[in-house]
Amino acid sequence: MSQCLRAENVGELPDVFEVSRLNHDEVLRKQADSLIGAVALNQSVRVDKVDEPLVKQPDVSNNLAESIGLAQEGDPKAIKLLKINARTDYIERAFKSGFVMAVDLERNEDGKLTQNGQTLESVQVNSLRYLENERLKERAKVEALHTIRDQYYADKGVFKKYARVTLSLVDDQMSDEEAAKAGFFVNTRSLSIQLVTEDEKGDVVIQSAFVAGKQSADAAPFDIRSAREFAERLGVDYEGLGSEEMHARPILVDKSIMPDVLVAAQLFDESASEITGSYKFFGKNRNSPPTRADYIQRYDENKKMVDDMDHDIDIVAWELMCSSPQSPLEATTELARLNDKLLKDRIITDESIDANVLGVEAAYRVNHARDRYRELQSMPIEMQQQNQIMRDIDMLQKEINDLGSSSSCPGGATNKKMDSIFGELEGQDKNEDSKETVEDCEFISEECPECGDTKVKTTAKNGKYYGDCGCESK
Ligand SMILES: [Zn+2]
Repeated sequence: MSQCLRAENVGELPDVFEVSRLNHDEVLRKQADSLIGAVALNQSVRVDKVDEPLVKQPDVSNNLAESIGLAQEGDPKAIKLLKINARTDYIERAFKSGFVMAVDLERNEDGKLTQNGQTLESVQVNSLRYLENERLKERAKVEALHTIRDQYYADKGVFKKYARVTLSLVDDQMSDEEAAKAGFFVNTRSLSIQLVTEDEKGDVVIQSAFVAGKQSADAAPFDIRSAREFAERLGVDYEGLGSEEMHARPILVDKSIMPDVLVAAQLFDESASEITGSYKFFGKNRNSPPTRADYIQRYDENKKMVDDMDHDIDIVAWELMCSSPQSPLEATTELARLNDKLLKDRIITDESIDANVLGVEAAYRVNHARDRYRELQSMPIEMQQQNQIMRDIDMLQKEINDLGSSSSCPGGATNKKMDSIFGELEGQDKNEDSKETVEDCEFISEECPECGDTKVKTTAKNGKYYGDCGCESK
């Protein structure tokens, strides 16, 4: 394969090619290596100038724990950053597929790309420093290289013509258990499609679409094969590649072909339809092929949903500000605890949240509680019946709280990690003597937590659930 593509000749480059084919990529790799090496040696890194390390800290906090400290001193940038962190973490917990996010980047006085006052490179340095899982660490090294590439593309005008498109799948070398522990959502093997480019105003934007790579817990995964098909449709050969290799091989696509991440999500869905034989919308089954308008509508709905929960996120950010974490891990763990609680509080009444995000066992109870909640709203009902429903919802809420466990992005704190820290405290009030079960009944589950069948008649009996599809809870 020819290696003579030069960013300076951006007008003459092919429509689609892997980033490694750019002549300068080798230099960028070396830059990334020296950054990674410096982090490993725990040297003071002035992250924006890799080849001349200076002892200088970035101006805004380096991590969540520092942001909390600065926010307590009233730093408005830090307060804003806390809120953004809280919102992103919540979104990653609540929406595993069918969600699209866009972030505008800025440039600091040195011309470095920044997000909310932090240079992208300093964000990467933090991941490299604090990630414990070795495989996630390897992934973070690749992310650091992507960031260095983006800076170069932005500086050289490559983003005027191209978008960098990258697929981040669940690590296919991890067992489900290991992947779940690392923060991946294994139930639907959710993946993210990332697209970075420059908008009409000349600002660099990062767009991400979250797409299911599996219909449900019991279904066959299609993530890897669909990703290969996706690349093939663009004329790029991903044959035989695993998740980490794909992630390490982004594609530059002419914006006339791929103007935004919605187009990328649609191409992925079409690829997944080809692989599975059923129509897909953000990786989930659907009766008819989605149109461009469906993707745009979903994006608009996402934005509205995020606006609607602004108040709840403010409260999480406020509570976070009132905590005093002693380390970055304690800070992310506290954020995980607050958002896990918020998610559990909202999941019964907010049906935009995927019922499965707290795991299969909790999902049976979420489906049940949602059915009861709908009943409660279908007035008029007798007072006595109303009380019974409210008691049921209350009990189901407790079960959801106990059984459920949410996770944010890979590397973010999960409820499980949190348990190891808070476990002893919380264990004390889990008394078994008050064991009551919810009244037996029948209801319709929107989606079976295990096989993914929709509109499943479900029977609740002695605290267990039996779906007409043949699935049952523990
Ligand atoms: Zn089922």
